[in-house]
Amino acid sequence: MQDTAFFSQVLGITPPWFISKVILNKETQRVEIYVDHSAGFAFPCPECQKLCSIYDHTKEREFRHLNVCQMATFIHVRLPRIECSEHGVKQIVSGLGEENSTMTYEFEGFVIDLQKECSIESVCRLLGMGWHASWEVMEDAVERGQARKPHKIPERIGVDEKSFSKGHQYETLVYDLDSATVEYVGDKRDQKSLESYYQQFSLEERKQVQSIAMDMWDPYIAATKAYIPKAEKKITFDRYHVMRLVVDAVDKVRKQEHRVLMEQGNEILKGTKYLWLWNEENVPEYRRADFDRLRSLDLKVCRARAIKDNLRHLWEYHKEGWMKKYFSRWYFWATHSRLTPIIKAAKTLKSHLENIVTYARHRITNALGESINGKIEKVKRLACGYRNRDHYKTAIYFHCGGLELYPRRKSGVFQVISP
Ligand SMILES: [Zn+2]
Repeated sequence: MQDTAFFSQVLGITPPWFISKVILNKETQRVEIYVDHSAGFAFPCPECQKLCSIYDHTKEREFRHLNVCQMATFIHVRLPRIECSEHGVKQIVSGLGEENSTMTYEFEGFVIDLQKECSIESVCRLLGMGWHASWEVMEDAVERGQARKPHKIPERIGVDEKSFSKGHQYETLVYDLDSATVEYVGDKRDQKSLESYYQQFSLEERKQVQSIAMDMWDPYIAATKAYIPKAEKKITFDRYHVMRLVVDAVDKVRKQEHRVLMEQGNEILKGTKYLWLWNEENVPEYRRADFDRLRSLDLKVCRARAIKDNLRHLWEYHKEGWMKKYFSRWYFWATHSRLTPIIKAAKTLKSHLENIVTYARHRITNALGESINGKIEKVKRLACGYRNRDHYKTAIYFHCGGLELYPRRKSGVFQVISP
């Protein structure tokens, strides 16, 4: 079989199109495939299908295709324009790739496959392509995916703030807890950043929201109350954020106590930070002995930790009334502990209690979308080469948006629609 016949079959090229030549350049490691059409062929007008004669040809276009035997492969073609008596001068499309793309559908799909696994810079290295070309594929994929995505507000929403880069710039992330996807990325973490998400939906649509898991963060509470009807019954302060508040208080108690003990020359709390923060079941085996010894001592941080551990049971109750009852016992204990950071944390929780106990009804936490966190970690890991904040957002939608990213072929390759 001749190479042109071979490639015609592989690429699905049929008359009037044919491959005029295949050039193999060993030096540049490139395969160049030239596609042409037989002379004098009348092409159907894309609008009315009437056969029309050729008006002229566009400048030669080059499409990158999947490698042939490790060599970068390019398809070259000059596409004709026809002149229809009714519709004027019209362009015949190649069907090789998207309208303005320099890649075939197959190659673009492959770039997307790689981008799901590697950083932009690795993709460039693996495929020998430029940063901008590679980045454009990701941007187009996200744009395409968002255009295809149905306009719908999730029933169970998670709101979280994340910092992606050094310098503590925060983004507001909105999750669909059921599909474990990031629905929205907003700049900053103020009221406006969440409101601009809600504003995309009508009041009727916003009524459909059943519950919202979030941190005890006033701007998010205000935004949700302003836009979600009956928000006060739907907001559930995320269990992990609630626990973190108390865990941070335990850490403050440890720091204060450690400082006082050090002044007396007692180093017992040195290097013990994580022993107090880990849940008991997560204390690693090699620290177990230290943990048991410290726990038997009469330390302030021991008491703080016991108070924290007890709060974990709050989420075992299935009725708001029982949660409240449990909390008030815990609150009494915490506020009589004479541990200032614990008292402060307990008071904060009490002021937010109504929306902590809504957990009994909704049973949601942001950890429901646990796989989201894994995916966000991946975005951070692949972050080298995102270059700026907007790129970060695009990457989050690409990796965590649950979008349909791949280009879809609209017609056959060099398809000639018969009149
Ligand atoms: Zn026409």
